[in-house]
Amino acid sequence: MFVYADNAATTKMSQTAQKTMIEAMERVWGNPSSLHTTGQEAKEALEGARETIARLLGADSPREIYFTSGGSEADNQAIRSAAFYGAKKGKKHIISTAFEHHAVLHTLKKLEKEGFEITLLDVHENGVVTAEQVKEAIRPDTALVTVMYANNEIGTVQPIREIGAVCRAAGVPFHTDAVQAVCHIPVNVKEDNIDMLSLSAHKFHGPKGVGVLYAKRGTLLANLIEGGAQERGKRAGTENIPAIVSMAETMQEELAKMDAVNASIIPLRDKLIAGLSEIPHSRLNGDRNARVPGTVNFCFEGIEGESLLLMLDEEGIQASSGSACTSGSLDPSHVLLALGLPHEVAHGSLRLSLSEENTEEQIDHILAVVPKVVAYLRDISPVWEALETGERPHLL
Ligand SMILES: *Cc1c(COP(=O)(O)O)cnc(C)c1O
Repeated sequence: MFVYADNAATTKMSQTAQKTMIEAMERVWGNPSSLHTTGQEAKEALEGARETIARLLGADSPREIYFTSGGSEADNQAIRSAAFYGAKKGKKHIISTAFEHHAVLHTLKKLEKEGFEITLLDVHENGVVTAEQVKEAIRPDTALVTVMYANNEIGTVQPIREIGAVCRAAGVPFHTDAVQAVCHIPVNVKEDNIDMLSLSAHKFHGPKGVGVLYAKRGTLLANLIEGGAQERGKRAGTENIPAIVSMAETMQEELAKMDAVNASIIPLRDKLIAGLSEIPHSRLNGDRNARVPGTVNFCFEGIEGESLLLMLDEEGIQASSGSACTSGSLDPSHVLLALGLPHEVAHGSLRLSLSEENTEEQIDHILAVVPKVVAYLRDISPVWEALETGERPHLL
């Protein structure tokens, strides 16, 4: 049986996404900056997509939508912009959390080397930060607060609306990496008090290599890429029209069916959680309820996440130990460490992330295979032996 359960890493493009993209390649292949008819047709398609996305996000104006190459670029631009314009006013302090995506964390690390002071809020053991924590951390010299909407490894959802309200009251710009939230849970930039938001099409069955930076009117943006006057002078380079058009269509379709899809995924997710919880010395990571519909993350004591993944792949189950960027390195996930899990526990992690393509039979297959593989790996693990003989204490 083939089970793709790694939708937090990327999703398969939907039929609509594929069809719209191919159709756009044929129909609107001009350069939107050209003044002739072919160019203007492309321009019209581009601006149509911008209007659609602005409406779907609850933005005031299409002028608040900037197309980027994806979530990473949008995160980089949002943070760099707030840092650049904050520094001009003598504000060089940025607040974020310890479990952000690397696109955020690594940008902040760079800024730290450039003289910014970064406060990374501790994440509660349930994988959530509170608006209260943000409020306490804000200082007169705070240039930006950036907190992710939903975590990519454990799926927990942050109280973005309250955090946004705290930032607005303090007059501090607020950015959220909403890559794992958009098209999965309701997101509305106005109701949620968001100044800047990042999204990426390939996390909701759209094409890879395209995303959006939403920036509320009045938010100052700095360029990452210099060149032509595309995207109101804030992001040079001829626009990727087929991908942009496809992203907008896909977003519209995914949002229209989001509630129905979630109604089918949530029972599958809950069955997974219930089944995997029966494995001895296991732990569900992240709050049981404050989570996106599709993502489940477990730790199994005494095993290596990488070995588990490879053995599951042999059984047709494709999953992840965390973010795609950390798989392949032997360091445990920074997200799980941020929850306060010890290294040896964080090593044995498994992330299963579902989409509407997953079926109950597939969940049954996962629940038949994972306990067997975990038991096998524990049998051959010297760490497990030490735990079982009492030489080392069980942590889970
Ligand atoms: C995937 C992801 C990103 C990066 O998006 P890309 O489009 O792949 O650059 C950023 N943040 C989160 C939370 C993600 O899940």
